[in-house]
Amino acid sequence: MAFSVRASSSAHLARNVVSNARSSLASKRSNGMGKKVSQSIPFRFQSMSSTSRKSSVTVQAADGPVCVVTGASRGIGAAIATQLGAQGCRVVVNYAASSGPAEEVCKTIKASGGDAIAVQANVAKQDEVDALFKAAVDAFGEVNVLVNNAGITRDTLMMRMKLAQWQEVIDLNLTGVFLCTQAACKIMGKKKPVKGRIINITSVVGVTGNAGQANYSAAKAGVIGLTKTVAREYAGRNIQCNAIAPGFIASDMTAELGPEIEAKILTTIPAGKYGQPEDIAGMVRFLALDPAAAYVTGQTIHVDGGMVM
Ligand code: NDP
Repeated sequence: MAFSVRASSSAHLARNVVSNARSSLASKRSNGMGKKVSQSIPFRFQSMSSTSRKSSVTVQAADGPVCVVTGASRGIGAAIATQLGAQGCRVVVNYAASSGPAEEVCKTIKASGGDAIAVQANVAKQDEVDALFKAAVDAFGEVNVLVNNAGITRDTLMMRMKLAQWQEVIDLNLTGVFLCTQAACKIMGKKKPVKGRIINITSVVGVTGNAGQANYSAAKAGVIGLTKTVAREYAGRNIQCNAIAPGFIASDMTAELGPEIEAKILTTIPAGKYGQPEDIAGMVRFLALDPAAAYVTGQTIHVDGGMVM
């Protein structure tokens, strides 16, 4: 879940999350229910442990799956790009404004045996999405994995929300996912036999809703519907599409909530702690690269310490 960078709004939202999570728990209790990837994306890592994977890729040029990760300059996206790069992937590190951090992510990936390029593009805009995917193909020749991670918040109560605040979040968090998915599927479909994996980063508030996040929760719920539709349209063509719904993930935004609110939030998380960006990246790595994920499609996997179930 993501919150406004404004502390007052964040505090308000956090209180709502606490109360939403409690009522969700209460209702559950009350009803008693408690490169050589053209043939196969998970190419040469199938029987290796993660330790041996790392050492095997450092001695050869990266030729792993080509992964486009949107919003990969910071936070969860940076962790995703880094983990995929450490598996020998060739990663397109997309960003909107943070070119320095994006270049740092590329350096880390190269140092761990992967390859990477940083590409600036506002993925809410069709022409910039087209340019992003052209850059990916120009650099690496194909696209095998897409991670739709870029996202923003513009939080305020629904009655106070301006159309511009609504539109900005829908444009990036939902339309951006549609645009990138369409562009990726077009490229994935050209390479025979067709293989591809798409992972959309949604949020638990796309499932529960959250006061103060009408725009964000609507976009994230839309992403879940889009995920299922893409999964249905492409399952027969060997492109899997899944979503990951993070709960509270330690970040600059959640750090702003302060110790008092954090303590309250933690009472709603069975695991008793925030997740880390690497927790989300690990699930992406599984869905994107692991052969065991080949029969998983259309699913929304919660990575939230048990917060929403
Ligand atoms: P951050 O704010 O830390 O990072 C956002 C990333 O998106 C940055 O790389 C940013 O690039 C990029 N970005 C912003 N606008 C655009 C744009 N128009 N086009 C392309 N890239 C853009 O976010 P998080 O890491 O916290 O969140 C990542 C995803 O996870 C989001 O979709 C978010 O909704 C979701 N999520 C996060 C949770 C959390 O607790 N943190 C919980 C649930 C879901 P730049 O650096 O250039 O601005």
